[in-house]
Amino acid sequence: MQDRDPPSFDPRTWGGGNPARSREPDSGEPSFDIRAWGKGATPPPAAPARSKPQPPARQPLAPETRTRMLAFGTAAAVAFAGAVAAYASRDAQPVVTERRSEAALAAEPAPTSSRRTLVLAGIDELEDTFRSGGIAAGEAAAAAARAHAELGDGAGEIRLIFDLHGTPGTASLDSLEVTRSDGAGLVLRRKGDGGFDAKRLSAALKTRLTVVRGEIDANSFYSSAVSAGVTDSLIGDFANAFSYDFDMQREVSPGDIFEAAFEQAHNPSGEAVGVPRLVYVSLRTAAKSRALYRFTPPGEREAGWFDGNGFSTVRALMRTPVDSARISSQFGYRTHPILGYQKLHRGTDFAAPTGTPIFAAGSATVEFSGAKGPNGNFVRLRHDNGWQTLYLHMNRILPEIVVGAHVAQGQQIGEIGTTGRSTGPHLHYEVHIEGQAVDPLTIETGTGQSLTGKGLAVFRKERDRVDRQRAATAD
Ligand SMILES: [Zn+2]
Repeated sequence: MQDRDPPSFDPRTWGGGNPARSREPDSGEPSFDIRAWGKGATPPPAAPARSKPQPPARQPLAPETRTRMLAFGTAAAVAFAGAVAAYASRDAQPVVTERRSEAALAAEPAPTSSRRTLVLAGIDELEDTFRSGGIAAGEAAAAAARAHAELGDGAGEIRLIFDLHGTPGTASLDSLEVTRSDGAGLVLRRKGDGGFDAKRLSAALKTRLTVVRGEIDANSFYSSAVSAGVTDSLIGDFANAFSYDFDMQREVSPGDIFEAAFEQAHNPSGEAVGVPRLVYVSLRTAAKSRALYRFTPPGEREAGWFDGNGFSTVRALMRTPVDSARISSQFGYRTHPILGYQKLHRGTDFAAPTGTPIFAAGSATVEFSGAKGPNGNFVRLRHDNGWQTLYLHMNRILPEIVVGAHVAQGQQIGEIGTTGRSTGPHLHYEVHIEGQAVDPLTIETGTGQSLTGKGLAVFRKERDRVDRQRAATAD
């Protein structure tokens, strides 16, 4: 979390010396409705595109105008939304929401200063906006160039607040705040000598943790998680976090309890920025209970999942090499469906539709890849610990899976099919330890690394941070 740099002047004192409510520190939930801001705004049906909306209320001029406006009543929000929508509709001139100081309102009809607050579709509109706001051409160009230099050329909305005085066409800027949606930007304020004090604003993103708890319903983990409020895009992450601990198809039942905590950055307007990030998951079934924390060990680039004691969940092999598959035949003696006699079934069969992805159960080197008699399209991997995994009857082997290639754990190697001696689409999967086939569903798939020393100390701090926030949201 990054706060703004301490300003060289206090922007809270702007606007006729009215002390304004501080917008920092962020006390948590925004008090305004972000739906009224920018693109989410619903323009009122009758809003004439070029009319100037009424000032929403008499309020002290303050730098948080843009946020406070959103806290006003519906009428004000709609008026403002109308202004934004009208502007966005690109009529010849930008429509500005103009707000005047108490003194100026009292002194109508000759205001000498005013404040404008608006949202631009892009940074290229700055200069025109200044000019149509009444600022003298030279100063409009200079201010736009300065903002451009600070904010860069990138695409995206620009939020603009400026104060000016003078008559339209020759007015001068008193102050200017121009920011991108993450809060990064520039503040200029007129000095006594006619120049400007400049202050950079760093991105003022605040991260909030959301904790969601729920119970597995009769349909699926997916539907349970969505109805509990887990963001759609995080559900795959949740399942992956448990890929070594639970078989989400077979070991999770209705009534099991799950919890997820995810972080989301918000800009100063309260809008979500970037993608949410899962930081904690837990799952409690009748058989076992696991709680995991996302953590990037010092010196490593990738985050992993660790239990509360700092043990990594990573195992030599994943629990299963396919998602959403039904076990159609287990390891052991059985009557062979085609050959008709008792035979040791050396692996586990996972039935799933043709085309279902098959993943490498662990990081490995490809030892065999291709068609092989009754095996059909067949891949054999040799894992880093010397174990082998075998994948039979594939519909298709991915082109990069060639002998000698290295594959990462969880990387797709092919798709389910029914090639070779097979009665329907399924994966026949074997695990060999020291050359012997073992039951893939019951083997101990290896233990993960545990954090030690500094890594463990850093992990504990992170774990405690997440736990404190989880406790704070408990019902
Ligand atoms: Zn089989």
